[in-house]
Amino acid sequence: MRTRDFVELEDRFGAHNYHPLDIVIERGEGVWVYDVEGNRYLDFLSAYSAVNQGHCHPRLVKALTEQAKKLTLTSRAFRNDQLGPFLKELTELCEMEVALPMNTGAEGVETAIKIARKWGYKKKGVSDGKAEIIVCANNFHGRTTTIVGFSTEEQYRDGFGPFTPGFVIIPYGDLEALERSIGPNTVAFLVEPIQGEGGVVVPPEGYLRRAKEICKENNVLFILDEIQTGLGRTGKLFAYQHEDAKPDMIILGKALSGGMYPVSAVVSSREIMDVLKPGDHGSTYGGNPLACAVAREALRVIQEEKLPENALELGNYFMERLRTIESKHIKEIRGKGLFIGVELVPEAGGARRFCEALKEEGLLCKETHEHVIRFAPPLVIKREELDWAFPRIEKVLKEL
Ligand SMILES: *Cc1c(COP(=O)(O)O)cnc(C)c1O
Repeated sequence: MRTRDFVELEDRFGAHNYHPLDIVIERGEGVWVYDVEGNRYLDFLSAYSAVNQGHCHPRLVKALTEQAKKLTLTSRAFRNDQLGPFLKELTELCEMEVALPMNTGAEGVETAIKIARKWGYKKKGVSDGKAEIIVCANNFHGRTTTIVGFSTEEQYRDGFGPFTPGFVIIPYGDLEALERSIGPNTVAFLVEPIQGEGGVVVPPEGYLRRAKEICKENNVLFILDEIQTGLGRTGKLFAYQHEDAKPDMIILGKALSGGMYPVSAVVSSREIMDVLKPGDHGSTYGGNPLACAVAREALRVIQEEKLPENALELGNYFMERLRTIESKHIKEIRGKGLFIGVELVPEAGGARRFCEALKEEGLLCKETHEHVIRFAPPLVIKREELDWAFPRIEKVLKEL
C-alpha cells in the first residue's frame, strides 16, 4: 500500500476531526521519521512537544517493553511498585510535595480544575457553586466539554454547548485585567507560560512573576499548564523558571512519557492536594505501572541528556539564524528555547501552504493559528541537523 491508499482508508473509515498533511509515517528514530514511500523527514513538530526525547528513544522502548512483560495495569484499587517511585521522582524534580497522575493532558487540566474548586470551597470559604477560575483569551487547555467551554476559539466551541459555567476570560499578558477580575469567589488563575496552540505567544517579561504575586495577595491559586512548555522545551526544565514564578499547581503531560504512552500529572502541595478524599477523583489507567515506568525513564532521559540546556543553546542559535532570513512573508519570529513561532503577514496566504512546501523539502511542520509556523523539533536535535534544516526553511520562506 502507498500513501494514497492509507489516506483513503483513513478518510473513509475515520472521523474527519483532523486535517493532517498527507504523509504516512511508518518509522521514527530520534529527530527523523520515515514515510511508507521510504522518504526521510526531519520532525519539526515533535507531536506537539510530546517527543522531546526523540522518536523511539532506545531507553524508553526498553522501559516500556520490560515493564509490559511484568505488569501493566492494576487499577488504583491496589497498589503497584512503580507508582510510589514515580511520584517521588516527579515531585522532587518539580520541587513540590505531591502529585496526582492521569493520562491525557486534558484530564490533567480537568483534575486541576476540580482541585482548585474544591480548595475554594473547603479552604477559602467560597459559597457552594460560586467558584470562579480566571483563564486567558486565546488559551489552549484541551478538548473536553468543560475545557472548550472556556476557549475563545469559535470552532472549538461551535456546536458543543451548553458549557460549564464558572470561568472568567481575560486578555493574555494583561496584569491589570487579572487584578480587576479577581473577586471574592475567584479560586484560581489558570494560564500557559507561553501560549502554544495560540501561536507561540510569549507574554511580556515579568508577567508570570507578577501574576503569581497578584494571586498570592488575593488568596487565589496560581496554576500553570506546562503540558507543552514544560520538561525542557523552552530551554529550562519548566518555562516558569525563566522568571522564577513557581506555581501552586503545575500540570504536565506530553513529554512526561516521551511519546510512548499517554501520561499526565498535576503536581502541587500537600495542603492543596489534601482537599481530595478517597473517591473524589480517579482514573482506571491513571498511575498504572506501565505509564509510571515509562515516565520515570522519560524524566531521567530529560535530565541525563541535558535536554533543557540543549534547547536553550540551540534555540538561541536557531532563532538568530532565522532572524537573518529576508522574506516579505515574515511578520515576526518569536519564542523561547526550541519553541519558535514564525508569524507570517496576512498577505502570505496562510501558513499551511508553507508547511506543505517544507514537507516537500523534507521538514515536517504544522501551521498553528492560520498564520504561524511552529518550529519545535525533538530536544535531542544537534546543531548539524538544524544546519541541514536552515537552508530549506530559508528557501521556502524566500521563494514561495
Ligand atoms: C496539548 C495540550 C493540552 C491537552 O493535552 P492532550 O493530551 O491533547 O489532552 C493541554 N494544554 C496544553 C498547553 C497543551 O499544549
